[in-house]
Amino acid sequence: MASALSDRLSRIVKEMRGQARITESNVTEMMREVRMALLEADVALPVVRDFIARVKEKALGQEVVGSLTPGQAMVGIVNRELAATMGQGVADINLAAQPPAVILMAGLQGAGKTTTTAKLAKHLIEKRKKKVLTVSGDVYRPAAIEQLKTVTAQAGAEWFPSTPDQKPADIARAAIDYARKHYFDVLLVDTAGRLAIDEALMREIQELHTILKPVETLFVVDAMQGQDAVNTAKAFSEALPLTGIVLTKTDGDSRGGAALSVRQVTGAPIKFAGVSEKLDGLEVFDAERHAGRILG
Ligand code: GDP
Repeated sequence: MASALSDRLSRIVKEMRGQARITESNVTEMMREVRMALLEADVALPVVRDFIARVKEKALGQEVVGSLTPGQAMVGIVNRELAATMGQGVADINLAAQPPAVILMAGLQGAGKTTTTAKLAKHLIEKRKKKVLTVSGDVYRPAAIEQLKTVTAQAGAEWFPSTPDQKPADIARAAIDYARKHYFDVLLVDTAGRLAIDEALMREIQELHTILKPVETLFVVDAMQGQDAVNTAKAFSEALPLTGIVLTKTDGDSRGGAALSVRQVTGAPIKFAGVSEKLDGLEVFDAERHAGRILG
């Protein structure tokens, strides 16, 4: 388990007692442990390599200050770098736009987009007192449109109808028009996902982005995808200016590494974590707490 990292490091810390400086071999030994722990947490290999390189650079030759031992100083460096990579504090949804503030949901099929759309609707209604409209641009799966209708009603929001014979771009224009006329604060746009990255899908969501000019473009990703999340995240962040990430199904993932990978690859903050299938199973993501979870 990844939670052993603190224990592993403290063993090395003990061996380093009495030293005044961090030596190269101390760093090498510690980095081996950090590397193992991150890989066990299912962080993607290239992300682990970058992370280790940054910590190494900061640690080498560092003078040890005050009452810290070199080992404690190293643990501090690892902790700070992890927190810095994960992002600091919490980042809620940005609604600073001429209403309706549009939130575009992107991600693969099965990632949890539709569920998260309804969870966000509920969050915005209950916590931010907003009037929320949802719409589905998934014209390929009529069941997906119906699913959004059902969960939107459960969330207490309003659903804008769409049908499989429409073009996603036309649906987007009609929904934003309706939202404007009826004074909605927020329009949540669920989109079609595929099972894998697909060029036509990317072009379609780019077109939606151009039409909708969303204040938030959220990439929804399944935490259980682990290392595979990196490739998906890379493709979506190259296609769209992502403003945030929602990490779903964290309740089924004990390792936590996808957060670090996805965050580093996209540079976008993780704003929410899905913690259950239920509509209240959405938490504002706490980067520091999650970093602590990976480190143990
Ligand atoms: P979409 O294809 O991206 O729209 O994905 P769905 O919203 O249909 O979600 C796919 C499955 O994942 C459904 O069975 C959801 O109930 C489930 N799901 C979504 N988010 C979470 C979560 O945070 N935790 C758990 N345990 N299940 C989730």
